[in-house]
Amino acid sequence: MSSNKINIAIDGFSSCGKSTLAQAIARELNYLYVDSGAMYRAVTFYALEHGYIHTNGSIDHGLLLESLDLILVQFKYNSSNQEIEIHLNGTCVNKEIRGMQVSAHVSAISAIPEVRKKLVRLQQRLAENGGTVMDGRDIGTVVLPNAEVKIFMTASPHVRAERRHKQLLLNGVHSSFEEVNANLSQRDLMDTTRVADPLVQAPDALVLDNTYLTEEEQFSFVLLHARKAIQSKVSATTE
Ligand code: C5P
Repeated sequence: MSSNKINIAIDGFSSCGKSTLAQAIARELNYLYVDSGAMYRAVTFYALEHGYIHTNGSIDHGLLLESLDLILVQFKYNSSNQEIEIHLNGTCVNKEIRGMQVSAHVSAISAIPEVRKKLVRLQQRLAENGGTVMDGRDIGTVVLPNAEVKIFMTASPHVRAERRHKQLLLNGVHSSFEEVNANLSQRDLMDTTRVADPLVQAPDALVLDNTYLTEEEQFSFVLLHARKAIQSKVSATTE
């Protein structure tokens, strides 16, 4: 049965508010929200827990690649708090993956082509019937090149670092603004310069610079384009 549901890809730099926006749109349309960054974070957490990332930051690629098939990443709905949680081999790791340790190493782990291949396949499977809002770095370019709506989010680096610092404090993760700022710059650089699926704007993506935009303004912008795309899909299937 063909579905009138579309896929929405939201890519952009770290801490642009992609997940807040993607979740709000998914809730509004009753779509599935897929946080692809959480998947890379879960693999990074696994690598840290198993000692595959050394204190000097080097990664034991051999051991990590041998273990890739043992790493099960799943999203599960928690009805008690109505949140989608990420599970690593059956255990919820929502909180663990947000710490500074994971943030410090996630871009190096996500630059490994085999890790990307595994997670991209999983992301594509989650979106195969449409009805997803997925955020990340390569969603509109690699994971869902046929997504009906593609958004490329950006904001000034200082504003992003301030937002991230505030969010971490709210989550009980204590770190200095300088530390957060340095981590964001390092991740931006690694994400845009890596060989495998770097962060680039898809040619057909709509740019959303939210440095001076409210959450409501961003929400209305994406919803407008999503509704238009849904309408054209409906029209195309009823013609
Ligand atoms: O979105 P978030 O900041 O949680 O992502 C963490 C990291 O995961 C990014 O800095 C990036 O290195 C990596 N990532 C990626 N491709 C994606 C999503 C995230 O490489 N689609």
